[in-house]
Amino acid sequence: MFPDEIQKRALKTWYPEGQEIHHDKLHPLIALAGEAGELLNLYKKDRYKPGAVVDRWAYIDELGDCLYYLAILAYQYGLTLDQLSQLNREKLRDGKNGWFENAEGL
Ligand SMILES: [Mg+2]
Repeated sequence: MFPDEIQKRALKTWYPEGQEIHHDKLHPLIALAGEAGELLNLYKKDRYKPGAVVDRWAYIDELGDCLYYLAILAYQYGLTLDQLSQLNREKLRDGKNGWFENAEGL
């Protein structure tokens, strides 16, 4: 599935048919932070709870939840997920964030 398809599906649930389209960014931002918190909580459980084993798929599930809200926010900022991915790819390739100076081929 291509990012744009994911975004279309996310938007369909974010803006149910017949409902007015709103561009409030706070709601999806809070939700994204909540999902990032869920991801962090999994790591906390995995790392610090004796005997706990967090399945890799639990992380992937939470990453998907983050992707959902990223799709909504990208739309609200006028981008498809594909465009956002491309911009980030260029940012990483150009080393603009200073983290991936040797990341040729990523
Ligand atoms: Mg979640």
